Amino acid sequence: MPEFCQFNDQNMEYSFSEEFAKQADEQDPLKAYREQYLFPQHNGEPCIYFTGNSLGLQPKTAKAALEQELDDWAKHGVEGHFDAKNPWFSYHELFTHPLAELVGAKPEEVVAMNGLTTNLHLLMVSFYQPYGSRYKILCEGKAFPSDQYALESQVRFHGYQPEDALIELHPREGEHTIRLEDTLKAIEDHKDEIALIMIGGVNYYTGQLWDMETITKAGHEIGAKVGWDLAHGAGNVPLKLHDWGVDFAAWCSYKYLNSGPGSISGAFIHEKHVTNKNLIRFAGWWGQDKETRFLMEKGFNPIPTAESWQLSNAPVFAMAIHKAALDIFQKAGINNLRKKAVKLTGYLEYVIQQVSEKSGDVSFEIITPTNPEERGCQLSILCHGKGKELFDFLTQNGVIADWREPNVIRVAPVPMYNSFMDVYRFGKILEQAS
Ligand SMILES: *Cc1c(COP(=O)(O)O)cnc(C)c1O
Repeated sequence: MPEFCQFNDQNMEYSFSEEFAKQADEQDPLKAYREQYLFPQHNGEPCIYFTGNSLGLQPKTAKAALEQELDDWAKHGVEGHFDAKNPWFSYHELFTHPLAELVGAKPEEVVAMNGLTTNLHLLMVSFYQPYGSRYKILCEGKAFPSDQYALESQVRFHGYQPEDALIELHPREGEHTIRLEDTLKAIEDHKDEIALIMIGGVNYYTGQLWDMETITKAGHEIGAKVGWDLAHGAGNVPLKLHDWGVDFAAWCSYKYLNSGPGSISGAFIHEKHVTNKNLIRFAGWWGQDKETRFLMEKGFNPIPTAESWQLSNAPVFAMAIHKAALDIFQKAGINNLRKKAVKLTGYLEYVIQQVSEKSGDVSFEIITPTNPEERGCQLSILCHGKGKELFDFLTQNGVIADWREPNVIRVAPVPMYNSFMDVYRFGKILEQAS
């Protein structure tokens, strides 16, 4: 069992009452962090913001961080590359330690660059190297659309057909999440054909957290490479990418990492690969050895770290906000956040069940695993009955959640800024609606 899943107070007694929620908030060691974020308002009060899994809230420090770079640009012009308070030439290096800590990596294994889908493509260029009968990719059926398109276009790029080259995992009939045993069986069944396993570490739709360590190991045993899309994993659950032996991973920073719409992505490439200069990659000048970058000479000499996958010079404005957001993560600590998340999501589950037992026209089924080891913050509620009406009622009453066709409401109380009172208030609105 991963160590982050062991809690001494897992059997905390919940109660669907204001008194309980207030007390839980008072006892929350992370309660002060809520004050560091800007909440959209509804009737003069903060919304119940349960979409940190889609776009995290703005840290109050973001504006000043951005202004610092605008001011340095005004003051120094091009010299800002070296004379800015945080010199732009090496700006991306500010992320090395915070990101390594966040995803359980060594400093040389991580880099902040590009967008998520871009990074998935760049990493597949290096780690999807089909040959002979080993040309297939094992992935989730109904993966996030961008991942589906990326996977399909990668196999086509190598001359294969997606229907043949993609092996999709599906839940069993009548179930919503994919079983580990079925995944391991698929790996075994296709052991001579799989070149790459690429899965979303936390599924965006169901909130299922995969056993990344076991699957990575199983993939390596059959000779495949294993990569994880951590769009819903980074900043949500503690990760140990280095120890798990993961070949590569990528994530975005605008969901749980609160770094603003479309902000910079992060990538992980395992130590065992970063010094391999012969590994195929699409190259650009920002991946070139720093001593010789400005000699503008012929011949690519990659930096012996994940930085060598960088193409372009760093987009400093997006990065300034990312830096401000990660500073808060470093202070709060991902393991502390995880501890609170387990209690907070457990409370939301409890409250939904309490309401569901008494409800009339609508009944709810939580399709996210009940075991905290198999989920992060998010709960996905399958509505039987008038789901869309219910969702609209929630919205009218100041709840920001999200609706996924055909009938699922996703709610994610995030430990950084959501409170037990948010969950209690949500429960009361849900009660009125049903
Ligand atoms: C959010 C998300 C994306 C978004 O991709 P971008 O390139 O950042 O637009 C991709 N994949 C998954 C699994 C996601 O959850």
